[in-house]
Amino acid sequence: MALTFKAGLHLQEHKEATQGESIKRLPPPKEVTIPLLQHLGAPAKAIVEPKAEVILGEKIGEPQGFVSAAVHASISGVVRAVRELPAPPAGRRVASIIIERKEIEEQPDFKSSVVTLDKLTPEDIRAAVAEAGIVGLGGAAFPSQVKLSPPEEKPVDTVILNGCECEPYLTCDHRLMLERPEEALFGLKAIMRAVEAPRAFIGIENNKPDAIQVMQKICQEEENIDVAVLKTKYPQGGEKMLIEAVLARRVPLGGLPMDVGALVHNVGTAVAIAECLTSGKPLMERVITVVGSGVREPANVLVPIGTPLRDVIESCGGLSDTAAQVILGGPMMGFAQAALDTPVVKGTCGILVLERDEVLPFEETPCIRCGRCVDVCPVFVVPSDLARFAKAADIGRLMEYDVMNCCECGCCAYVCPARIPLVHLLRLGKQLVQTAAKKS
Ligand code: SF4
Ligand code: SF4
Repeated sequence: MALTFKAGLHLQEHKEATQGESIKRLPPPKEVTIPLLQHLGAPAKAIVEPKAEVILGEKIGEPQGFVSAAVHASISGVVRAVRELPAPPAGRRVASIIIERKEIEEQPDFKSSVVTLDKLTPEDIRAAVAEAGIVGLGGAAFPSQVKLSPPEEKPVDTVILNGCECEPYLTCDHRLMLERPEEALFGLKAIMRAVEAPRAFIGIENNKPDAIQVMQKICQEEENIDVAVLKTKYPQGGEKMLIEAVLARRVPLGGLPMDVGALVHNVGTAVAIAECLTSGKPLMERVITVVGSGVREPANVLVPIGTPLRDVIESCGGLSDTAAQVILGGPMMGFAQAALDTPVVKGTCGILVLERDEVLPFEETPCIRCGRCVDVCPVFVVPSDLARFAKAADIGRLMEYDVMNCCECGCCAYVCPARIPLVHLLRLGKQLVQTAAKKS
C-alpha cells in the first residue's frame, strides 16, 4: 500500500509533456549572471575582479560563515562586472558576477573516477560538498554541508532520498532517477556515510512506476536501502510530510528532521554530491524542466547556472504567441518573474510558462470562515487567522499561532473560495517575525 501524510491535496499532474523527455545539455550561453546568494544563509564573497579570466568550474565566490555556499564559474570567460542585480526567485537585489564567454585554452578535467566511499571519512565528504558549493536542489537551496553536520546529541538513524517531485508539471527529478540512478544511489550512500546513518529510503510517488522500478532494481543488493512507494499527493515532497509518510514520525512544531532522527535530501542533490566526489565537479549546472502551454517545445535540460531564462526558453522553441506569465519553479511554490534576463540559479527546478487564459485576474472577497484552508494545511496551522494577523502586523499572534511552521506549499490559497492570497500573506507574516527577531 502506498504511504502518505495527513491533509494536502490531489492536484492535476500535468507531467505528460516532459516526463518522457530525456535530459538534453544546452550549449553554453554567451553570458551568465551568477548571484552570490543562491542559497539560504549568508551570501558568498566575490573573489574575482572585473576583467579577470575564469575557467569553467573555478571558484568565484567564497562562502561567508557556516551557513553559506561557494559559487563557481559555469562557463569559461572574462568577468565583465560584479554588481548588485535582482536575483531569483523573489527579485531581491544581490551582488552578482557577470561572465562573458570566451574560448580559453586551459580547461578543467571533470572525468569521473572510481571512488570507494569506505576510504572517505564523514569529514572528507562534508569538506568536498562544501568546496563544491552544493545546496539542496529541491528548491530550498539550504547549504548541504550544514545538513550533513548534525550535532552529536541528534544522531540521524534514517536518510530519506526525496524523489517525490510532487509539484505539478516538474519532471527533472523523475528523469534523473531514470537516467542517472547509479549516481543518485552513490550520492545517497555518501550522505549516509557523512551522517553515519545505518538506514535509508528512497521516497517516490506512485505516479512514477518506471522510476520506482529502476530504483528498486538498483537497490536490490543494498541491505539497508529500500524504495518507499508514496501516494501521489501534494505536498508529499515536503520534508515533514515525507518523514511522516515514510517513518510515521512527526517533526515537532518549530523543529527539524534531525529532532526525529531523520535527514531528507533531494535526488538532484545526491547526484551533485556523487559528481563532486567522483570527479571534483562543483555545482555549476543543473537539470530543469521547461514546460507549460506557453512554451513551444517543453523539455528537460541541463543548464549552466547563471543562464538567462530567455536563452533557456529560446532553446526550447521559444514562447508561444499567447504566453502570459513565466514562473520560476512549479505552479504551487514558484515565483512569477518580471524579466527574462533573470538567471537560472541552483534552486531553480523549472521554468513554467502559462498562457493568458490560465492567469486570469481574480477578485479577493471577504473570508467566509469555510475552514477549507485549515482542512488542507499539512502543518496544521490556521491559515485564515494567520493571514489576518499578517495584515495587522500582529507579530505576537503570528508567533503564538506558529506562522514559522508554514512551508509555503500553497494548498490553502489553492482551495480558498474567497481568493485571498493566503501564501503571500503568510510569507509576509514570516518576514515580519524574522525581521522582529533580528532587531531584538
Ligand atoms: S498555511 Fe502554509 S503550510 Fe499551511 S497550507 Fe498554507 S501555505 Fe501550506
Ligand atoms: S479557505 Fe478562504 S474563505 Fe475559507 S476560511 Fe480559509 S481564508 Fe476563509
